[in-house]
Amino acid sequence: MHKPHVVIIGAGYGGIMTTVKLQKLFGKGQVKITLVNKEDYHYQTTWLHENAAGTLHHDRTRIPIKEVVNMNKVHFILDTVVSINPIEKKVKLENNELEYDFLVIGLGFEKTTFGIPGIEEHAFSIENINSARLIREHLEYNFANFHHEKVKDNARLNIVIGGGGFTGIEFAGELINRIPELSAEYDIEKALVRIIILEASSTVLQGFDPQLIEYAMTSLGSRGVEFITNASIKECTSDKVVYEKDGKQCEIPSKTIIWSAGVRANGIVEQSGFGTKQGKVEVKSDLRTPDYDDVFVVGDCAMIIDKKTNQPFPASAQIAIQQSSVVAHNIKALIEGNATKLFEAKSLGTVASLGHQDAIGVVLNNRKVFGWKASVMKKIIDNRYLYKLGGLGLVLKKGKFNFFY
Ligand SMILES: Cc1cc2nc3c(=O)[nH]c(=O)nc-3n(C[C@H](O)[C@H](O)[C@H](O)COP(=O)(O)OP(=O)(O)OC[C@H]3O[C@@H](n4cnc5c(N)ncnc54)[C@H](O)[C@@H]3O)c2cc1C
Repeated sequence: MHKPHVVIIGAGYGGIMTTVKLQKLFGKGQVKITLVNKEDYHYQTTWLHENAAGTLHHDRTRIPIKEVVNMNKVHFILDTVVSINPIEKKVKLENNELEYDFLVIGLGFEKTTFGIPGIEEHAFSIENINSARLIREHLEYNFANFHHEKVKDNARLNIVIGGGGFTGIEFAGELINRIPELSAEYDIEKALVRIIILEASSTVLQGFDPQLIEYAMTSLGSRGVEFITNASIKECTSDKVVYEKDGKQCEIPSKTIIWSAGVRANGIVEQSGFGTKQGKVEVKSDLRTPDYDDVFVVGDCAMIIDKKTNQPFPASAQIAIQQSSVVAHNIKALIEGNATKLFEAKSLGTVASLGHQDAIGVVLNNRKVFGWKASVMKKIIDNRYLYKLGGLGLVLKKGKFNFFY
């Protein structure tokens, strides 16, 4: 008898949680489940800014897939997806080709540079474990070189963050924690190190509550972060960033430019011929694509419109995780000939960290939280995810318990 073949591509929040839920919903041998990912680990994207700053080792962020996926029920393929052919129901991998009955696309996001010269070549971005690790090493390399070179080059100590959104702000918060340690290690006066956020609009953290924005700017500002708003980056080179403000071109000498101003859905989705809006598939209420009833999309590759605002929900791990339950349920329903259920996003709030003991956020019932309480809440959210993915054992292994330091 033909066993339905469910293929999940991408082991990010959406993909791995769908896999874990499917393996619980089906008994061994009822369906064939295949998970494809380009690394043999899952990583928590929401922790990458800590790895990039060097305040948290990346081994805490990545979780070997075999530790959370039941290899007796799921066939894991370590490979890179090249394209999808939804008409022939095939996924092309670099080293293989798969046929599916149901496909779950969870390939996440990639950076977009808006064609700004030099970003691709010279700026760094916080995208995955490899890019985060590179930033950490690059920071150390520049600090080490500062005294090693005959002529002191301040560009080595100027860290410029392009984009004051969620990622840029969280990264700045971590850097503040890291700089004293780095400065001490490389005998550099702390005051020589600059952290500068360049933001194109009139405020950082656009879309956040104004009171929370003010809190974040005051908190980070008092710890040395410089904000330059209404500043659009025009070019990056290996040792400077050029931006325009008030009609004037300005420059900051810097060898470390972190681009955090633009991400888009993984280009494979659009290139494979799915109908997209801003690179994402506007999925039906049961999370299937409008054109292919056997293809589900989760996470940053999916667009869901918030009926209250008529705007797409912002890409978030929270939504990706919520979607995974509905996708797993719906795959089972379709296999058993039942009706699918509809997805309704529930906003459980958003918390942005501002370093180890500080954060801002809006939680249930639109309640604003600041400072250490928000920081504790953020760590609880992180631990809660680990619990959902791998139970208490995973929380004890990878969880965050540094609530008050
Ligand atoms: C620094 C930072 C902080 C954030 N903080 C928060 C937060 O606090 N709260 C929140 O809700 N959201 C946050 N986000 C956003 C959140 O991380 C994303 O919305 C979320 O990761 C999307 O999940 P996903 O399942 O779509 O894909 P991802 O988690 O991005 O995973 C995609 C997976 O696909 C794999 N993959 C990609 N391409 C291929 C390929 N060609 N072949 C095979 N495998 C492939 C990748 O290796 C990865 O495993 C943050 C993002 C960043 C960068």
